[in-house]
Amino acid sequence: MRPTTLGSSVGDGLVRCDVCQWRCEVAPGDAGRCLVRRNDGGTLMALNDGLISAATIAPIEDHGFLHFFPESIALALGSWGTPFPKEQERSTYAFMPETESGRRVLEAERAVRFAQERLCRGIVWTYNDPLMEFEYLYDGVRLARAASRYTAIVSGGYWTIEALDMLGPYLDGINLRLFGFSDDSYAALAGVPQWRGIIDAARRALRRWRCHLEITYLLQPGANDSVGELQALAAWVREQLIPIIPIHVMPAQEGSNAGIAHARQVLRQEGLKFVYGPDRTETTRCPSCGWPVIERPGGIPKLIGVEQGLCDNCGADLYLRRSMFKPLSTGGE
Ligand code: SF4
Repeated sequence: MRPTTLGSSVGDGLVRCDVCQWRCEVAPGDAGRCLVRRNDGGTLMALNDGLISAATIAPIEDHGFLHFFPESIALALGSWGTPFPKEQERSTYAFMPETESGRRVLEAERAVRFAQERLCRGIVWTYNDPLMEFEYLYDGVRLARAASRYTAIVSGGYWTIEALDMLGPYLDGINLRLFGFSDDSYAALAGVPQWRGIIDAARRALRRWRCHLEITYLLQPGANDSVGELQALAAWVREQLIPIIPIHVMPAQEGSNAGIAHARQVLRQEGLKFVYGPDRTETTRCPSCGWPVIERPGGIPKLIGVEQGLCDNCGADLYLRRSMFKPLSTGGE
């Protein structure tokens, strides 16, 4: 446990937490909505600090990044907690184990050393929403960058600008998980009434901090798959971000691919260039000339038509991040 970095006293013993957009004001003895931060005598403590729920070594593609250091191996770490009440109802990683014996500790220093020893090119924080272990994540991204490892997170993006601006300089990649693109979808599927701060923060991560961005759209037929909602998503990506940002249309519930093909078709028709589904053997083609640029036989990526990050047939930008240096522009390398 350690004090929350973005916690401040607001009087009467209440402590406000500015890690995520709930900005909870927590009374003594109570916990915030995420249940992993508790007011202990006027100090808000991160209860999940250094506790990991999972640690694996696998290709970065396994974590929803298809244009970010392709062919590389990453150490993936998870902790406990999510800011989304509806996800608390279904995620295995929402709540910490109740007994000490179920809690595993992995200090950030040891995690980075482990990544180096196992020749991992980078570290990705995923499984739960890594924003919930903000202090641990902040240590981790700085240590990882100092050790020349790339840093990435898979997150619902419910962070405050203050939290984003602390992480941004050290954060290379974000896979942003969207529960939909309307007030109704976010209320029904995530349990948050105000969600538009997520899209503002994502734009800032791209523009201000030049993070590589990929988006996972968690498709729930009948809830967030209307043509109008998909068109609104596409318009945001096209106009506020850049149309070559990869979108992954994934089933909200594993095993059901209903509606995926239709959603991909709509997003492509709306001008998005890289729209993927759950099939990890799919070949990536240049959106300008159709040239095959990344093949994935058996799910293993092979760059076959790429030269200096561009299509080697027509020179089009493929939005590929392969360097430890952040791109000068947000259009890719
Ligand atoms: S991380 Fe979010 S949900 Fe948790 S206490 Fe802080 S503001 Fe509340």
